[in-house]
Amino acid sequence: MPRHDVLIVGGGPSGSSLARILVQQGMDVAIVDKQTFPRDKVCAGWITPAVLTSLQIDVEDYLQQNILQPIHGFRIGRMSANANDIDYPDGPVSYAIRRCEFDTYLLKRSGATLYTNTKVESLRFENNIWTLNDTYTAPLLVGAGGHFCPIARHMGAKLGKVEVAVTAKEIEFAMTASQQQACKVVAARPELYFCDDLQGYGWVVRKQNYLNIGLGREDNTRLSEHISNFCNFLKQQGRIPDDIPDKFHGHAYLCYTQARRPMLDDGVMLIGDAAGLAYGESGEGIRPAIESAIIAAQVILANSSPYTKQALSAYVEQMEARFGKRAKTEVVATNPLIHALKISLGNSLLNTRWFDKHVVLNRWFLHRQQAPLVMQASAR
Ligand SMILES: Cc1cc2nc3c(=O)[nH]c(=O)nc-3n(C[C@H](O)[C@H](O)[C@H](O)COP(=O)(O)OP(=O)(O)OC[C@H]3O[C@@H](n4cnc5c(N)ncnc54)[C@H](O)[C@@H]3O)c2cc1C
Repeated sequence: MPRHDVLIVGGGPSGSSLARILVQQGMDVAIVDKQTFPRDKVCAGWITPAVLTSLQIDVEDYLQQNILQPIHGFRIGRMSANANDIDYPDGPVSYAIRRCEFDTYLLKRSGATLYTNTKVESLRFENNIWTLNDTYTAPLLVGAGGHFCPIARHMGAKLGKVEVAVTAKEIEFAMTASQQQACKVVAARPELYFCDDLQGYGWVVRKQNYLNIGLGREDNTRLSEHISNFCNFLKQQGRIPDDIPDKFHGHAYLCYTQARRPMLDDGVMLIGDAAGLAYGESGEGIRPAIESAIIAAQVILANSSPYTKQALSAYVEQMEARFGKRAKTEVVATNPLIHALKISLGNSLLNTRWFDKHVVLNRWFLHRQQAPLVMQASAR
């Protein structure tokens, strides 16, 4: 039976980032993923510069085969009002990537042993050793399998029951020459439009000749109808071509404060979407996924087998120091009057350029107030 130091389930950005750090420190790491790469992941593919810093991406190398679209501004507004163009003249404030390229690049460079096209079928934990699918073994198992991660479920996550997930749908497609002409979205300035009830927002991100259109909401009812209304709005405004494909793909994620799942137990940790880490206001999940991988790596490197829950507890402490403490109580429904007032106030604020730039963009979407996390010198 193949025996490794660490088995990671999920080869997305969190799993491959963790693997890379551990491999660089001499550990034998394997990644198990049900898909073969390149694979698509439902995502707008927008990342902040902090992500490139944390990943130590060599931009020249990345650009050789992949798209990295610099973003210098945003068009931002509500679906029933005029939008503001907010530009940042001093250099890119974000980038757009294609997940099929980005995830494959990170996975390849991780240096881990890859078991792709391999779904988790069974798990056993005996004598401080995990056995996955009666085949792969390791003293430490890391769940990096995204929102529906089988390891999170094994640890007791109750999908859709006690946790309020954001549900979203999107398409990404290569535009034909006539679609490129008809598309008025500027690649360096993605567009964000909040729903009038402020329960979510839609986006359009252009990456060279690819167009990504999507919408996510906190309530999970009538998502297809919201998407359809959003696309009609974009077409009426002349922002996107009339003949876009109609096969939208759905997915879900948990915002950090809404997640209730435990992040660790004896011999097992969760990172990335499996732990439910996305930023509440924007839904950005790649940066928290990578930061959780860096924090997990530091804790793993400071320990050795057996990895008891007690020994790994610094992971939760450091995650709370970075992301804050999670609310202990369930989310209670807001009084309808207060909710209506919030919507009215929010809608007025969203019309002002100052609020759009300094609060919505700089704080909520770009997280400029928080310096990137980088790997500290190893404890090994
Ligand atoms: C519509 C939408 C738009 C988004 N847009 C953005 C954005 O623009 N910017 C941003 O920062 N974040 C965005 N996010 C969030 C972002 O996509 C996630 O936070 C990010 O992908 C988390 O990375 P991860 O490595 O934790 O998980 P994932 O990227 O989900 O990777 C999980 C991996 O686990 C594998 N896996 C799953 N189940 C199993 C199993 N049973 N057995 C084996 N392998 C398994 C999967 O194949 C996958 O490769 C968006 C999310 C959605 C839904």
